[in-house]
Amino acid sequence: MSKSAVKKIQAIRGMNDLLPTDSPRWQFFEAKVRQLMLRYGFNEIRTPIVEQTALFARSIGEVTDIVEKEMYTFDDRNSESLTLRPEGTASCVRAAMEHGLLYNQTQRLWYQGPMFRYERPQKGRYRQFHQIGVETFGFDGPDIDAEVILLSARLWQELGLMEHVTLELNSLGSSEARAAYRDTLVAYFEQHREVLDEDSKRRLTSNPLRILDSKNPAMAEMLDAAPQLMDHLDAESRQHFEQLTQMLEAVGISYVINPRLVRGLDYYCRTVFEWTTNALGSQGTVCAGGRYDGLVEQLGGKPTPAVGFAMGIERLILLLETLKLFPEDIGGCDVFVLPMDDDATTAAITLAEQLRSELPELRLQLHCGGGSFKSRMKKADKSDASMAVLLGEDEIAAQSATLKFLRDDREQQRVPLATLASTLRELLATTT
Ligand code: ATP
Ligand code: MG
Repeated sequence: MSKSAVKKIQAIRGMNDLLPTDSPRWQFFEAKVRQLMLRYGFNEIRTPIVEQTALFARSIGEVTDIVEKEMYTFDDRNSESLTLRPEGTASCVRAAMEHGLLYNQTQRLWYQGPMFRYERPQKGRYRQFHQIGVETFGFDGPDIDAEVILLSARLWQELGLMEHVTLELNSLGSSEARAAYRDTLVAYFEQHREVLDEDSKRRLTSNPLRILDSKNPAMAEMLDAAPQLMDHLDAESRQHFEQLTQMLEAVGISYVINPRLVRGLDYYCRTVFEWTTNALGSQGTVCAGGRYDGLVEQLGGKPTPAVGFAMGIERLILLLETLKLFPEDIGGCDVFVLPMDDDATTAAITLAEQLRSELPELRLQLHCGGGSFKSRMKKADKSDASMAVLLGEDEIAAQSATLKFLRDDREQQRVPLATLASTLRELLATTT
């Protein structure tokens, strides 16, 4: 076969490479999150990317979008049905139960990693995407609902996003209250059958609450007038919700109550919330979560109250980029060390290692790969470094280096090797 006939293998549709030009922004975001989790007393849990299919079918719910049409499910060589995880909560619950983490104790956990859903790829919607999530177990009061919402709010504050996102809140009540409401709602939809689209007609018997979530403009008016779950809450759920909103108000977090917020997954009860933005078009939800007190029991454990959320990293990165909220200086390089010719290579390597030992925070790139002096200088210029440290025959003989400023027209200067580290430290402290 001729070379040109070989078909190039490409990445799978909807699954993205993260390129070196993008990764500094991801790392910046992830570092903020990691630090925040420590500050709020959450511990990381890592679970496998693949689980038994039954785990997701049983937890997320058979009649949800995810289980009906979005899962990557396959038989392994042993004919066992496995699924690439579409979300993190089910795996988290499975792992916590399996390792006795829920036995007579509370947990505040967080996770991070790729999720897989067979969706139509578009901006902010991919087939492999990444979430960071928190899950708490063993707390039944509204204080923990507030705590996880406040954690997310602090993240938006620290990223400069707070004024660009809205907290939407609702309560789904107890499962009994929801069942009663479901009947009321179905009766209402039956009266307006002619307005329902095909999807909604199908959901009328399988998952009528999800109809409220529809974005179909033709149904908007009918949905706005539908009976509201908020008016059908059981007394305890109502109190839980009122206490939560009081706590949020006390800390100064504003919210809007969205009676149509029902969330796509079956396992939620009481508090549900989403952080949404107008800056990303229709993919506007950046973080979503709520309470799921029934899930642990549903998966075979003891009844355990639980609250959590998941945020979509791609959407948040996109939002931060759109709003130009990333600091300019992330992921760059401070100093470029450059042997002026091949004879200076060893001296330059030695110097670079010395500087890295003396200045552990310094981002130093050593020129490798030879080339003419001119091409070496070009590489220094192309790096983000603000300074180049040049070593040639003269410098080596004089136990010094030439310090060249790459981003302004300050005069270059000779610096003795003995004081180079402290000179760099001072210069960098004044430029940043
Ligand atoms: P949507 O209504 O946008 O489909 P969802 O309700 O399916 O979202 P969740 O399961 O709650 O989403 O996941 C939490 C978050 O993960 C979402 O708010 C979003 O930010 C992100 N997310 C979900 N699906 C995708 C996807 N296919 N690509 C990128 N991010 C996603
Ligand atoms: Mg979805």
